[in-house]
Amino acid sequence: MKNLIILGSTGSIGTQTLEIVRNNPKDFRVVALTANSNIDLLRKQVEEFKPSAVAVADEAKADELEDALGISILKGEESLSKVCSSDEGDFVVNSLVGSIGIVPTLAAIKKKKTIGLANKETLVSAGELVMKEAKKNDVKILPIDSEHSAIFQCIGSEGKFVKRIILTASGGPFLNYSFKDLENVSVDNALAHPTWKMGRKITVDSATMMNKGFEVIEAMHLFDVPVEKIDVLIHPESIIHSMVEFVDHSTIAQLSHPDMRIPIQYALYYPKRVANALRPLQLDTLKTLNFRKPDLEKYPCLSLAFDAVRASGTMPAVMNAANDVLVEKFLSGEIRFLEIAERIRKVMGRHKPKRISSVDDVISAISWARSEAVKHP
Ligand code: MG
Repeated sequence: MKNLIILGSTGSIGTQTLEIVRNNPKDFRVVALTANSNIDLLRKQVEEFKPSAVAVADEAKADELEDALGISILKGEESLSKVCSSDEGDFVVNSLVGSIGIVPTLAAIKKKKTIGLANKETLVSAGELVMKEAKKNDVKILPIDSEHSAIFQCIGSEGKFVKRIILTASGGPFLNYSFKDLENVSVDNALAHPTWKMGRKITVDSATMMNKGFEVIEAMHLFDVPVEKIDVLIHPESIIHSMVEFVDHSTIAQLSHPDMRIPIQYALYYPKRVANALRPLQLDTLKTLNFRKPDLEKYPCLSLAFDAVRASGTMPAVMNAANDVLVEKFLSGEIRFLEIAERIRKVMGRHKPKRISSVDDVISAISWARSEAVKHP
């Protein structure tokens, strides 16, 4: 029996995690649920799963839920770390969106809880720090991202024989658009992902391929591989979720239908595998799998991610925070699609990266970048 703390239980990964819990009540108990502001759904989840702790980041919404449920609710951003620091729970699913996910991960590591990681910012912005803490506390960080789960499964115990990691990418909704076509794409266009159904922020990040840039940085930290050994390959069908090439030129791939419940379940049950009712892969019906190199001119965010890694220190955190703000501005109609990358590049150009020695260094870089990203130009 695993005792779960689910950070961000009302989002896409959170609800799919709860679906697995619902189908396997003997294997999991939910001890804490947290949400940002979607208290209507959180209320239903609390009634169904009866966690002993509930936290809501938005304080006014927390008060509302407290009145509705008649139980005490932890309030504010710090409450997310509070549930991770408690003695209850041995496995934290971090499916928070944004840099709000970093500090709770560190709190959970200090309490030696296993981490199922779906929050990108934890490793993109604070990777070195987080991996060092995990090692020090002998804590496992299990990826809940289709690509990293695939790499994790392909590597197994052969980490020292890795020659190259090949991260696959669907190419997003704009795969067959030219750079010129991207000038006038709408929010709805960007949200129409061809293979994956995900939250709004990550769907835009897939359209710009910033998401893949994040995944390169995450893979570097998770698997302790230099960035030069990570390649990105566009694979529009999203069947191969990533591959690992070994020194003997044998390449291992992981395949499945694009369904996040597979990597979530793998992390929740690791190191076991259990049967489920999901759709099996029938390769004979697929006919072809396609691959091509990404066009870096069309996907400038992908280049920015490699630039950020090379600049190192606080630069990836700055890139990430600027992206957060600018994707939000794109979604609210304030800026055009191509301005996301243009403006991130400007913010990065104004930043002198510093070495990260504590989480405060990360947090101050993030707040600097957020305020810079709001300024124009
Ligand atoms: Mg992914």
